[in-house]
Amino acid sequence: TIKLENVSKSFGDLKVLSNVNFSVESGEFVAIVGPSGCGKSTALRMIAGLEKPTTGKVMANEQIIDQPDPERTLIFQEHALFPWRTVGENVEFGLELANVAKEEREARIQAILIKVGLTDFKDYYPGQLSGGMRQRASIARALVMDPDVLLLDEPYGALDAITKLKMQNELMNLWLGSQKTMILITHDIDEAIYLADKIFVMSPRPGYIKDMIIVDLPRPRNRNGTEFIKIRE
Ligand code: ATP
Ligand code: MG
Repeated sequence: TIKLENVSKSFGDLKVLSNVNFSVESGEFVAIVGPSGCGKSTALRMIAGLEKPTTGKVMANEQIIDQPDPERTLIFQEHALFPWRTVGENVEFGLELANVAKEEREARIQAILIKVGLTDFKDYYPGQLSGGMRQRASIARALVMDPDVLLLDEPYGALDAITKLKMQNELMNLWLGSQKTMILITHDIDEAIYLADKIFVMSPRPGYIKDMIIVDLPRPRNRNGTEFIKIRE
């Protein structure tokens, strides 16, 4: 369970979050929507352990989150890849840190690059890829670690409609076939409705107070690992 309890966050004089409360149960798929600058990325960065709240508590399974953890992987809005590493080496990075053996690393990189459609670009550098490809490479880098909690900050923003649909379905199938917790920031309401169980709406209010409205989507779901939607190749 991920929990924000009375969380406020300021950068200098700028109050970004004020008394935000929300929790995400293990295995839930939630989306966060809200206008630009309302603090979505900031909230996600706190869950990722990259930022500390000014006051309040950010917790994972009742433990205060005070540092990044490979079990909670953030896919950044600006999909920060290492420019000096190839796609394959970028994906390999976390596996190296986790001391995964070379052969297994290769196999996992191969499998994940197939999933995101980048097998032919394994030896390319980020600078040689399109924006959408870079995005897919950063998604691969996160997925290869098989984290319990996936934090996705507008991962599909720069993708064309077909690739986006494929990646959304890939994510949905991944979620259906696992017990992963997903927290997705998006500006695409359709995407939020399509993918999430629950939508947190963050809205700016006068006096810098941020309210959070929770919209529950009471849809029955098939979580037995079968495909959600099949896309014809
Ligand atoms: P968008 O939809 O445009 O991505 P967002 O909801 O993700 O917006 P945040 O990135 O969380 O918004 O930023 C919220 C506010 O906090 C902005 O006004 C931003 O300028 C400010 N902010 C974020 N990070 C920092 C930082 N490290 N230092 C100072 N101000 C920051
Ligand atoms: Mg953001």
